[in-house]
Amino acid sequence: MIQFIKFIAISLGIVFSGPDANVSDALVVETNETISSDSLKLEPHRIQEKLTHTCGFNHAIDMMKKIDPDYEAKMKFYDEVVLPAIQKEAKARRKSGLQKRAEVLSIPIVFHIIHKPGQSPGSGENLDDQTIIDQLETLNEDFSALNPGWANIPDRWADIKGNPEIKFCLAEFDPQGNPSIGITRHEYQTVTDANIQSVIKPATFWPTQDYYNVWTLSIPGTTAAGGVAGYAYLPYPGTPGSNFDGTVLDYRFTGKGSRTLSHELGHGLGLKHTWGNSGGCGDDDGIADTPAQGANTNSITYIPCNGSSWPMGPSTCNSLEHMYINYMDYVPSACRTTFSQGQVDVMRSVLLGGGPVGQI
Ligand SMILES: [Zn+2]
Repeated sequence: MIQFIKFIAISLGIVFSGPDANVSDALVVETNETISSDSLKLEPHRIQEKLTHTCGFNHAIDMMKKIDPDYEAKMKFYDEVVLPAIQKEAKARRKSGLQKRAEVLSIPIVFHIIHKPGQSPGSGENLDDQTIIDQLETLNEDFSALNPGWANIPDRWADIKGNPEIKFCLAEFDPQGNPSIGITRHEYQTVTDANIQSVIKPATFWPTQDYYNVWTLSIPGTTAAGGVAGYAYLPYPGTPGSNFDGTVLDYRFTGKGSRTLSHELGHGLGLKHTWGNSGGCGDDDGIADTPAQGANTNSITYIPCNGSSWPMGPSTCNSLEHMYINYMDYVPSACRTTFSQGQVDVMRSVLLGGGPVGQI
């Protein structure tokens, strides 16, 4: 992913020289969400998001540990050294007054639509251009604090909320320099977890240093009853710049108002879930300003968000209310409203490279 990935790969690669090849099965799997109030407005291809669309994050980490003996050390280094350094530097920069308003970071993005042979655009997995454009609009709302609800964030989170000031733009040129609309289409009769990594991604990706890649497809095993909505990798050494870097997004979770991609981009730009990896109050997300959570919010209670009023959420650690409006929690779509400033600092630092990361 653009410069940052190059940077992190290089800088952390110095520390970790272990093998990073063949991480094909290691996924930071994602999902969540319950039925939203506007579920009846879903496009024909969409399915209602339910609690049974669960996340395989822990399973993914377990798989990564099995194939990469250094993975645990990389996690530890990232959590204990990189994340604190990024946040400390960003905080000092703001305090000094050097950073008045963040520069908008623009990132070329390409959507690869993976569909069955013979499907015309707008049919089944072969999403039409407008669906992609609508999805991109939602993504950019979320990364520019323009989403519904932002202006109504209550005072209790006013000092924590953060605006990433990141804009994703459909690529205007392909890797060969030819004009492009940033959407490609590819026919595959069979899509499996294995061939997504070993066949589809290598055959379709655009250089991940120059573009953010999103693949929309039918994720194996996902149905209206449950399954994985999307997944992305954290930017540990070996991932940035590789042909599997990017987000895999189930086509039924793609389109206007779907915030699964916003959550995945959070992972891709270095964020963990707000409750950490395994849950419990001793497992933090490494972000200083997000309140400690012992579990994801959906697992505790259902929050009926409507974008204008925000009921009190659960507290699982130190009497701190969950920041359940956070994109990196598991909550209904209508609740997902903001990142924290600490999360924004990490995402922007990861994108830009340099800074404290470069001194490590
Ligand atoms: Zn996640």
